[in-house]
Amino acid sequence: MNPRRVLLKLSGEALAGPNKTGFDEATVKEVARQVKISVEAGIQVGIVIGGGNFWRGRTSDAIDRPKADQIGMLATIMNCIYVSEIFRNSGMNTHILTPFECGSMTELFSKDRANGYFAQGEVVFFAGGTGHPYFSTDTGVALRAIEMNADCILLAKSIDGVYDSDPKTNPNAVRYNTVSIQEVIDKQLGVIDLTASIMCMENKMPLAVFSLNEKDGIANAMQGKINGTIVTA
Ligand code: UDP
Repeated sequence: MNPRRVLLKLSGEALAGPNKTGFDEATVKEVARQVKISVEAGIQVGIVIGGGNFWRGRTSDAIDRPKADQIGMLATIMNCIYVSEIFRNSGMNTHILTPFECGSMTELFSKDRANGYFAQGEVVFFAGGTGHPYFSTDTGVALRAIEMNADCILLAKSIDGVYDSDPKTNPNAVRYNTVSIQEVIDKQLGVIDLTASIMCMENKMPLAVFSLNEKDGIANAMQGKINGTIVTA
């Protein structure tokens, strides 16, 4: 892998750091430092952030799922506003694009608009997921990566790759260096959700999974140096 345009997916929990909820400033500043190195090296960077540090639609059965999912999508926008500001304070230019209007807080997504920003070396946040309930930011990142002709999706996670079983419960779990997306789907390896996996398979979008906590993990991954698992499409 030697990517020129990448979409980096950060989970909401990862942003929360040890707090488990809200934002951990030190974690986000460290992400910013590494993304800046990559942007300065000429890599076009898009960012998708989950919302689990605030809200997940499926965890609430007190209200209608589509409404719960709307709250989840808004949580992803809050995350992008926060991270975008930290990026700006670190010296990068950023834009937040959403699939629906949010007044003056974000800009409406269009491929042309995003391409224009990428061409200027600006970081583009794809916030609000797909804009539809019953989807996830996994699907959001797959959709935008495919639509924007990204070279790959980078998944910076709390775990350092894809394992053949859950390493939390199985001490003998083995990490894959490389695995096909077909195998991820067949064995339900849980890299990204099934909808997103199938989109990546059908559209030949490779992924890389590595730990957010690895020193320089993001900067290295953006240079194609993956200490984790490459998921081939
Ligand atoms: N969400 C949605 N549509 C999307 C993306 C996200 O409805 O296209 C909502 C959904 O409720 C989800 C929440 O936003 O639970 C947070 O997104 P994330 O992908 O972090 O959710 P997770 O997969 O962790 O539930």
